[in-house]
Amino acid sequence: MFEAFGLADQLVSEAYWVNEVGFWRPDPEDPSRITRTGRIQDVEDGLSEFPHVIVNQARMLAYLRDSMARSASRLEPCYGLQAADVQVAPDGKAPVTVTLRHVADGQETGEISTVRARYVVGCDGARSAVRTSIGQELVGDAMNSSWGVMDVLAVTDFPDIRLKAVVHSADQGSLLIIPREGGYLVRLYIELDQVRDRDMLDARSVTPEKLAAVANRILHPYAIDVKSVGWWSVYEIGQRLCRKFDDVPAEEMPTQLPGSSSPATPATRTARRPDRG
Ligand SMILES: Cc1cc2nc3c(=O)[nH]c(=O)nc-3n(C[C@H](O)[C@H](O)[C@H](O)COP(=O)(O)OP(=O)(O)OC[C@H]3O[C@@H](n4cnc5c(N)ncnc54)[C@H](O)[C@@H]3O)c2cc1C
Repeated sequence: MFEAFGLADQLVSEAYWVNEVGFWRPDPEDPSRITRTGRIQDVEDGLSEFPHVIVNQARMLAYLRDSMARSASRLEPCYGLQAADVQVAPDGKAPVTVTLRHVADGQETGEISTVRARYVVGCDGARSAVRTSIGQELVGDAMNSSWGVMDVLAVTDFPDIRLKAVVHSADQGSLLIIPREGGYLVRLYIELDQVRDRDMLDARSVTPEKLAAVANRILHPYAIDVKSVGWWSVYEIGQRLCRKFDDVPAEEMPTQLPGSSSPATPATRTARRPDRG
């Protein structure tokens, strides 16, 4: 896709290349300490002509925005509009009415606009107002595990800090390290314990300092001294699926997808890993 948009070269030259993965597990001699158990090639030969790369989402958005602005349509995103309601009339030339609240600096201005359309495509994320408005809901487990994530500038004696590294400790949880593009920052995905870290999660009192303390517990006997935090968050990984991605009535649904030899089946999706979304 990025090559088609003419963005691949820039992306590949700017991104962190994930060529190898290091694995760390409890040392059998002393399980309180982690030890490296392997280092493998990340992507099998022949999978793609492109390397496996990692780049900040803000950069991805900038690439796409710049490409749109340079394209024939000179398209620009409209910021500061929040879809508050989506109504679908049974018929008409523009049966969908979307109510938009105007927002400035995170505050509603009180101004409301409405847009009439033939179709509306909902790209409004996990808590989609569009999905709710067509009566669909996510089914499945919303909260399987909680992870803290932060991009940090740090001083550490952990030897694989510039390598994608998966660390499983004996009883302190798991840590995933992914170096950031640019050569300085590193992203830490830190597993929070559903029991030990429950108070912190329930009270929503997670801080970067607390996340750094958990990372240090996992990395023992190595230590990481976080000097600066570029960005951080806490998020829950669940596996949920919407039964349907549109509001086409059952009687209008094709029993067979065009060009397909098997009947249409609900989409399925694999469980998410924190490093693969
Ligand atoms: C911490 C974290 C790390 C992740 N890491 C990775 C990763 O490394 N690799 C990966 O592939 N995935 C990763 N993911 C998952 C990935 O970010 C999501 O799967 C992906 O962004 C979903 O895309 P989306 O377009 O459906 O929704 P989103 O990216 O959430 O976009 C929805 C957009 O709609 C807007 N919006 C929402 N409601 C409204 C409304 N009512 N009106 C107007 N606008 C609205 C939001 O502001 C947002 O801009 C990560 C997620 C998190 C939280």
